[in-house]
Amino acid sequence: MNLHELTAHQIIKDKVNPRELRKALEERISAVDKRVKAVLRLCPDKGEVGKGVLSGVPIAIKDNICIKDHLTTCASHILDGFKPPYDATVITKLRNAGANLLCSTNMDEFAFGSSTENSFYGPTHNPWDLERVPGGSSGGSAAAVASDQATMALGSDTGGSIRQPASFCGVVGLKPTYGRVSRYGLIAFGSSLDQIGPLTKDVEDSALLLNVIAGYDPNDSTSVDTPVPDYTKSLIKDVKGLKIGIPKEYFIEGIDKEVKDAVWAAINLLKKLGADYKEISLPHTEYAVPTYYIVATSEASSNLARFDGVQYGLRSKAAKKEISDLIDMYFASREAGFGKEAKRRIMLGTYALSSGYYEAYYLRALKVRTLIKRDFDEAFKSVDCIITPTSPTGAFKIGEKTEDPLSMYLSDIFTISTNLAGIPGISIPCGFMKNNLPVGLQILAKPFAEEALFKVAYTYEQNTEWHKQKPKL
Ligand code: GLN
Repeated sequence: MNLHELTAHQIIKDKVNPRELRKALEERISAVDKRVKAVLRLCPDKGEVGKGVLSGVPIAIKDNICIKDHLTTCASHILDGFKPPYDATVITKLRNAGANLLCSTNMDEFAFGSSTENSFYGPTHNPWDLERVPGGSSGGSAAAVASDQATMALGSDTGGSIRQPASFCGVVGLKPTYGRVSRYGLIAFGSSLDQIGPLTKDVEDSALLLNVIAGYDPNDSTSVDTPVPDYTKSLIKDVKGLKIGIPKEYFIEGIDKEVKDAVWAAINLLKKLGADYKEISLPHTEYAVPTYYIVATSEASSNLARFDGVQYGLRSKAAKKEISDLIDMYFASREAGFGKEAKRRIMLGTYALSSGYYEAYYLRALKVRTLIKRDFDEAFKSVDCIITPTSPTGAFKIGEKTEDPLSMYLSDIFTISTNLAGIPGISIPCGFMKNNLPVGLQILAKPFAEEALFKVAYTYEQNTEWHKQKPKL
């Protein structure tokens, strides 16, 4: 096997030479990224090899996670030239584990999107079909792992941004429980929804990486002080007696038949392996998309207020005569710096929070959010996990949805409730469509029950071959 194809656990087991590994990955990037465009920039190769559980493992980082003294832009023009003065907590943890920071990856600007087309740097292409999107917003991270340009990667997930691109690119993507992983140094989109998580070639690597990044952090007041188990201990092939819930609201019209068939085949395989399933109901599912787009845009519009041309990144170079005071400078910088989708979100969020509308939109959305959370609480009284498709379709064509934001928003229909409820979710490969595009299976569990996810995902993976398929590039 080529060095760039190895998983982290193979690298660790075989004690692969870190210098050769880094070289192999850089060569792979030079060879294929002209076509995939997943990598925004390489991290400097420090030459030294850190000790730890991920010693020498090359890892790609989504461009919204701060790396000290390294350009970090959220794929936005407004963060031009921004080099954070500190490392995000996950980066510190990776360094302490000896990982090799390889590169920054492309994303939708500020993580707004489901296709990685909303990037200031241009779209990333799906390694399985270069005319299609890799999903988003962590499309660069998913495509980099799928095309063997990185051994593993970090993404962020506010409404599906790790799981949906994982599903489109045929890799494993995990959104941990809200509070499991520190958000310190993650440039905020929707602070009550955002979580950082792993994108990997298989389930074992996902557990290895979560082991490293999880845990309480005094720098993030929403991180939870509960012990981090050794997630690799959950890599057990056993689902006997496991109770799976199949939410009827997730198998609706509009879902691609090939996706539905692949997901049902997976459920039946788990049943054959000893699990049991039953239909459940998550009755408020139909409100998830509108609720999310009020909560997420409200938080985004507040979080983005800090980008005003004063402290970070771009300051408009409009002619002096056009800018007569500070307010003009704010306007001109924000006008020049933000892309179309970012502006749309700022307007939607500002509207939902404005006086007179706040109660009608924002406060009401918070109440519905509670109902959605209660649906899951109720369901988990009688099942151990919930299984759904990750996305209603496979990867769509580049440009197909860019003029229709609503249809783009609907591609997150199966992933956003998870974020509203704060629960963990994983997407694993579960088949291919006739046109050779990967299909993803989503597994959900109770808060802090990532171990249950790993157990089910690992059992399924070890009984199938989907995760071993590679795109031809
Ligand atoms: N696609 C969703 C959105 O556009 C989710 C993005 C994300 O999880 N960052 O908001």
